[in-house]
Amino acid sequence: MATNPKLILWDLDGTLCQHNEAFFRLAPKAVAAAALDFDIPMKPENALQLAQDNFKGQRESIMAFVKQFNLEEKEVFSRYYQHLDPDFIASSPELVMAIRNLTIHTSCGVLTQAPESWAIKALERLGLGSYFNKNMIIGHTCLNGARKTEKECSDHVSRILQEQHYSRQDVALVDDKLKVLMTLGSCIGTHIWLQSQPGQILPPDGILTAATPLEVIRLLENAAIAEHGT
Ligand SMILES: [Mg+2]
Repeated sequence: MATNPKLILWDLDGTLCQHNEAFFRLAPKAVAAAALDFDIPMKPENALQLAQDNFKGQRESIMAFVKQFNLEEKEVFSRYYQHLDPDFIASSPELVMAIRNLTIHTSCGVLTQAPESWAIKALERLGLGSYFNKNMIIGHTCLNGARKTEKECSDHVSRILQEQHYSRQDVALVDDKLKVLMTLGSCIGTHIWLQSQPGQILPPDGILTAATPLEVIRLLENAAIAEHGT
């Protein structure tokens, strides 16, 4: 396994953008607003209630509307991000500093199902906008709407990496969903699972774990030192 990647692809939802208290307040509002864009026969206050009642996560909440009103899941998802207030995203000076140092020799990009415009907005909020490679903001449009757990996503990512001259072992992926890391195993060499409660589930062989983005960077730095002694 390569532990000194040339490119690190970061997930946003639940990884760089932590799902904090403010997120759980703002996200159901965005789900309700997205569903209302499709002229569903529901009053706004009832739509918000439905979104909140089903909010284990954004997907479950969106799916409640998709099922009830026979909507197109991917379209609702795309709308959701247009309505999502980025106020829940907080910048961490330690992370900004760590990423700034990291990007002296390692490129950083994003791999998300969200629209690219949301990714750029989120990076700005995180204070990371200027440290990320703009060619490596892979989102809804680049993935042609594919979910990260679909084979189609892996095909798109392979193509994009090839176009940018990255080989499999050059790239690390950080995601809070194990299934995403497993799906993208064939085109990405290093997999880091952001586990909010480390130790609860043992990761499969070959998958590294960290509890926070800052820990991911320390993990890669320590691995590089172990490998090269520098
Ligand atoms: Mg995620």
